[in-house]
Amino acid sequence: MVLSRSQEERVLAVLQRQLPGSLPLGYCVAHLATAAKVKPDQHVHLARFLYAVVRKGQCEILEEGLCTAGGHEVRELVVRDRSLALAEPPR
Ligand SMILES: [Zn+2]
Repeated sequence: MVLSRSQEERVLAVLQRQLPGSLPLGYCVAHLATAAKVKPDQHVHLARFLYAVVRKGQCEILEEGLCTAGGHEVRELVVRDRSLALAEPPR
């Protein structure tokens, strides 16, 4: 069993809502699942989907950061592709 098409679309939509900023903002897997209405027993499928998205360059998984949803520090932070956030020219 894998995530449904609509679940995958919700996951991507949640990531797209992230605003660019200097701090790495994103979601831990648990909060991303909650936001995208993915049930706990489907987290393994969510993780597999995320790694596929990372390979496509649509998002990144950082080794640490602040989860926007919970305001807590996490070891695996899912963020949207930072090339979009880095569009601002350097000073
Ligand atoms: Zn979280």
